[in-house]
Amino acid sequence: MTGVSTTCPYCGVGCGVIATPDGRGGVQIKGDPDHPANRGRLCVKGAALGETLSTEGRLLSPMIRGQQATWDSALDEVAARFSQTIAAHGPDSVALYVSGQLLTEDYYVANKLMKGFIGSANIDTNSRLCMASSVAGHRRAFGSDTVPGQYEDLELADLVVLVGSNLAWCHPVLHQRLMAAKAVRPALKIVVIDPRRTATCEGADLHLALAPGADAHLFNLLLCQLADQGHLNPDFLHHVTGLDAALASARISTPAATGLPPADLAAFLTLWASTERVVTVYSQGINQSDSGTDKVNAILNCHLATGRIGRPGMGPFSITGQPNAMGGREVGGLANMLACHLDLENPTHRDAVQGFWAAPAMATQPGLKAVDMFRAVEDGRIRALWVLHTNPAVTMPDADRVARAIAACDFVAVSDLWPNTDTARLAHVLLPAAGWGEKNGTVTNSERMISRQRGFAPPPGQARADWWQLAQVAQRMGFAGFDWDSPAQIFDEYARLSGVAGTLGSDFDISGLVGTAYEAFAPVVWPQAAKRGGRFFADGRFHTPDGRARMMPVTASLPAAVTKALPFRLNTGRVRDQWHTMTRTGMAPRLTQHLGEPYLELHPADAAGLGLAPASLAEVSNSHGRCILRVMISDKVQPGHPFAPMHWTGETAPTGRIDALVPGLTDPVSGQPASKSATVAIRPF
Ligand code: SF4
Repeated sequence: MTGVSTTCPYCGVGCGVIATPDGRGGVQIKGDPDHPANRGRLCVKGAALGETLSTEGRLLSPMIRGQQATWDSALDEVAARFSQTIAAHGPDSVALYVSGQLLTEDYYVANKLMKGFIGSANIDTNSRLCMASSVAGHRRAFGSDTVPGQYEDLELADLVVLVGSNLAWCHPVLHQRLMAAKAVRPALKIVVIDPRRTATCEGADLHLALAPGADAHLFNLLLCQLADQGHLNPDFLHHVTGLDAALASARISTPAATGLPPADLAAFLTLWASTERVVTVYSQGINQSDSGTDKVNAILNCHLATGRIGRPGMGPFSITGQPNAMGGREVGGLANMLACHLDLENPTHRDAVQGFWAAPAMATQPGLKAVDMFRAVEDGRIRALWVLHTNPAVTMPDADRVARAIAACDFVAVSDLWPNTDTARLAHVLLPAAGWGEKNGTVTNSERMISRQRGFAPPPGQARADWWQLAQVAQRMGFAGFDWDSPAQIFDEYARLSGVAGTLGSDFDISGLVGTAYEAFAPVVWPQAAKRGGRFFADGRFHTPDGRARMMPVTASLPAAVTKALPFRLNTGRVRDQWHTMTRTGMAPRLTQHLGEPYLELHPADAAGLGLAPASLAEVSNSHGRCILRVMISDKVQPGHPFAPMHWTGETAPTGRIDALVPGLTDPVSGQPASKSATVAIRPF
C-alpha cells in the first residue's frame, strides 16, 4: 500500500507524517518531506506512532451504565438526557467539554450544536488549560486572536528568546529547525528564560534562571530600557496606543523581582534592545499562570513599541501544546468565542452566524470556562455533561475535586478510545471514538497552517468519528442542519461561514478553500491571501475599532509566598517522550525508556534538608491532594522549586496525579488555570 499523508496527533508543531500500512497489521511511519512544518523531520514521539496503534483494550461498542449497547440506544440516551435536562433546567444546565485532540470538523459541529441550537455557550476545551491567556492577550493587543508569525521566523531571526518554553522537549521538531538554523548561522543568538535549566538550555547562548512567575517584571524592565535608551520605533508607534500607560506600569517593576544576576539581566536587555530581528517564543510557562494574560501583554508590548512584528524574523510567537488547539480557537471552541474569530458578545456577529446556521437559539453570552464549568458540575448548575477526547478527572486543576464532581453529576457521556480512563470510568454512557489513523479531518498548527489528518485504517469495532456522534445527537434532539455525510462537507460549510466572518472584518477568512479538493488538500497557511511568507500586521493595521494595536498597562506580580506548612512551590510540565495522560505514548516501550515513572525533581539542598536520597519515594501534598513520587535529585531546579511531570495517573505508589495538587486559581481575564504552580509540603514516604 502506498503511504498516506497525515499529521502527527501530538504537539502544536503539526508535523506531516507518511503512514504506510505494511499489510501485516503494522504501519511504517516517517516524516513527510513535503510538509512545510517539519520537512521530513519527526521527534521520537512522532516516530513511534506505529507502535501505538494496537486496538487492545479499545472501547469497541457503546456502553450504557456498564452494559454493551447499540449506537441507536446510546445516542438516543444522550439526546434524551440532554433534552430532558434542558427542558427542566434550561440550556445552561448542560455542557460539552472537548479537546485540542478533536479535528476542526468535530469542533465545528460541537460548537454549532451548543452555541446555535442548544442556546448555551457552555462548551469549553482542554485548550483552556494550554493557551487561553495567549488568546486573551492577542485580543487585548490586536483586537483579534491572531498569531502574527510563522515558524520560518525563528530561522530568519538574529535573536530567538524562548520564555516559559522547554522547546527541546515540548516542540522538538521546531527546536530541531532552530538548532539547524543556528548551526548554519552561529550568529543567531538563543536566550532561554526559565526557572529550570531544561534541555533547551543546552543549545542556548544565555539561560536566565528567572524567579518563578517573574516574567512580566522582566518584560516590563525591557520596555523601560527600550524607552529610556532610544529603541522605540516612532514610525510604528503611529499604529499603537497605550505606550504611556504601559510604561508607567512597567516602571514599578524592579530588577530585584526577577531574581537574576545583574550582569545576566543587563546582557539580556542589551541584546534584545540592540537586535532588530527578534522573535519571542512563549508557551505554557507564560500562559499557565493566574496573571498569564498580563505576561503575554508584557511581551507583546515590547514588540509593539519597537515595531518588531509583522516582518520576517521578528514578532511575538505563542506556540500551542496540542495538535489542534489553533483549529479549536478558529472554530470558536472556547466558551467565550464564536466561530471564525467572531465575537460572541457582538450582536452583529451573533446575528450573522445565526442566519448562516439558521439556528433557533443562539447563545447570547459567554459560557463557563473550564474551571468554572466543573464548579458548576459540582454544585448542580450543570446536570448533563458530554466529555470528548479528554480526561478532566486527571488533568483539571484540583483534579480529585473535579473527579468527585463528575462522579456526582446526573448524567455524563464520554467519547473516547479507551473505556478505562479516570473520566470514562465515571460515565453513564460511553461512546467509542475513532482515533488517529482512523479518522479524517483538518488541524491547524501553531503557525496557522491547516493540514489534513487522514485515516489509513478502519476504526475498530463500532468506533465512529466524533463529528458523526455529535451530529447524530443533534438530529435526535430535533435540530436541522446536521445531516452531513462526510467531514469534507463540514469543512466546506465552515469555510463558507468564514467568508461571512470576513465580511465582518474577521482575520479568519478561509473562504478561498470552499470547494477545495478535500482528499488532495495540501497544507496551507491562512490567510491564503498572504500566501506563505506573508505576515499579519506588516501594514500596521490591527483588528481594533481604530485599527491601532493596544499596548496594555501591566502591573507585574509574583506568586504568593510559600508558607511554613507548605514551604515548596511545585512546578509542573511535560517530559520529552510522553503525551498528556499517556493513553497512546504509554503503549510504545521505547518511549518509557527515557523517564519511566512519575518523579519529583528536587534540588540537592532541599533533598538533604528533607533526608531524601536519590530514587527514594517522597509524599507531596497539600489540602487539595497527595502524590507519591520517585525522587530525582538535580541542580537543574532551584531550591524550593521542585518539578514534577504531569503525565501519570496511577493509583499505586508512585502515583503521579499532579493536577490533584494544583489549586483551581485562574487568570481573571483568560480563565486559564495556574497549572504551573502549587504550594506543597514534601516528606519521605
Ligand atoms: Fe509530533 Fe510534535 Fe514531535 Fe512533530 S514535534 S513529531 S508534531 S510530537
